Amino acid sequence: MTNPTDVLDPATGLLGERPGMLIGGDWVHLADTRPVDNPATGEAFTAVPEGTTEAVDAATAAAVAAQKAWARRPLPERADVLTAVIAEVDRHADELARLVVAEQGKTITEARGEVEGVKAFFDFAVAHHKYRSVGELVAPSRPGEMLATREEPRGVVAAITPWNYPAAIIARKLGPALMAGNAVVLKPSETTPLSALAIGRICQLAGVPDGLVNIVTGPGRGIGNALVTHPRTNMVTVTGSVRAGREILAAAAPALIPVSLELGGKAPFLVFADADLDLAVEKAAEARFWNCGQVCTCNERTYVHRSRYDEFVARFVERAQAINLADPADASAQMGPKVSAAEWNKVADMVGRAEEQGAEIVLGGGRPDGDRFARGYWFSPTVLTGATNDMDVVQQEVFGPVLPIVPFDDYAQAIEYANSTAYGLTSYVFTRDITTAMRATDDLEFGEVYVNKIGPEDVQGFHHGWKDSGLGGEDGEHGYQRYVQHKTLYLGFGTAS
Ligand code: NAD
Repeated sequence: MTNPTDVLDPATGLLGERPGMLIGGDWVHLADTRPVDNPATGEAFTAVPEGTTEAVDAATAAAVAAQKAWARRPLPERADVLTAVIAEVDRHADELARLVVAEQGKTITEARGEVEGVKAFFDFAVAHHKYRSVGELVAPSRPGEMLATREEPRGVVAAITPWNYPAAIIARKLGPALMAGNAVVLKPSETTPLSALAIGRICQLAGVPDGLVNIVTGPGRGIGNALVTHPRTNMVTVTGSVRAGREILAAAAPALIPVSLELGGKAPFLVFADADLDLAVEKAAEARFWNCGQVCTCNERTYVHRSRYDEFVARFVERAQAINLADPADASAQMGPKVSAAEWNKVADMVGRAEEQGAEIVLGGGRPDGDRFARGYWFSPTVLTGATNDMDVVQQEVFGPVLPIVPFDDYAQAIEYANSTAYGLTSYVFTRDITTAMRATDDLEFGEVYVNKIGPEDVQGFHHGWKDSGLGGEDGEHGYQRYVQHKTLYLGFGTAS
């Protein structure tokens, strides 16, 4: 497996051998650190500061100091700064992609796609908002008056991000937050802090004013909680698990600040009897195995009409068997390892429980054979049959390459199964019949419905979960609205007599 330390060359790289936190334009190091592992080998290759409440205090103070001047700059000027960030991402695209691989374990092909996503999120923020209308004139009730509403930034945004897209989700939050005139204190996942710190460095190189983007590192319940509850924090945006979302919402409640939550998913993938099976098998596999099954929009449970079930299972197993598990830094790799030992154990436990509850493992089930997979967090593509809709593996999020395939008898049962979980983020429908497609779009209780296609989602769409999957949402105009508040102006100017 490739040794990732080459991406931490202090002479040429974005980050030094021992990366620091970014606070008010300074790189801050602490004696207490937390290691960062290479998921392909399980070995630590660097460490980052274990942030403290003092770091949160300093970062929020720096953010307040920078935000007012930033908010006074017109939107076209803010857009120019973000355009420079895009150019700098482009200049460091290869290094950023290799950092993503090193700390997260996805394949270099996927990591390059993720870096394109970083640019796309900033690009949307620039393109859509540079010349936006920032308010509206409303007809007043009296003559000689003007009534107007206008958008204003919220102030200091606390952004808390997960490990599965350690670069793209940073840009998904920074782009609209900065464009709207906010300053940001970001806390990336403690498992994958490096890509976020590298983007912090990229912002510096691009001329983003000091203090506008601050990055503190450390665990969620420690420094993350300190950030959420800090009196200078005006808004919280989180992408992560339902558990974390609940804890953060509760922690933010006393201060009555807005909280935007993008949480877990359990996407159903419905294959109706008339579906194009070639397409359905291919897309079901891509949507299950991308990023080693660690995407909130993953195909988590496939429901196939009973008349096509056996054929679908046989073809899906064949497709899954052909996946090339290899060093994620190698261009030929089609799937890398899972991100960490803790995450590996969660998935293995879930497969074990499914077997106990009566499911049958028809492919994979755990660590793949072979010396090269003996270390690190490798998990084979795994297919389960005989699972029933009430089993844990069908009801709870499984962030790994494990797919239960369940038959259904008719439309009503398919929809009942699909809607039966607490999650409501993404859903997939494969059918050639427009009536079935549109009926399902009406009936599915999910924030996203994909018909005869899969993601990734477009930056101009609206990515948001219903039910336990979230509160708020990201991307597009609706996502941007989370980062602004409104002010109403009543202006009396009198009338000429
Ligand atoms: P996680 O909830 O463990 O951690 C996410 C972030 O929240 C981390 O930075 C963590 O340190 C922080 N955190 C956790 N508890 C906290 C607390 N009490 N206070 C403050 N911060 C806290 O999630 P993860 O394991 O990093 O990521 C995987 C999860 O994220 C999955 O459930 C996945 O579905 C979800 N996810 C959702 C989306 C989406 O767009 N809906 C996208 C990616 C990932």
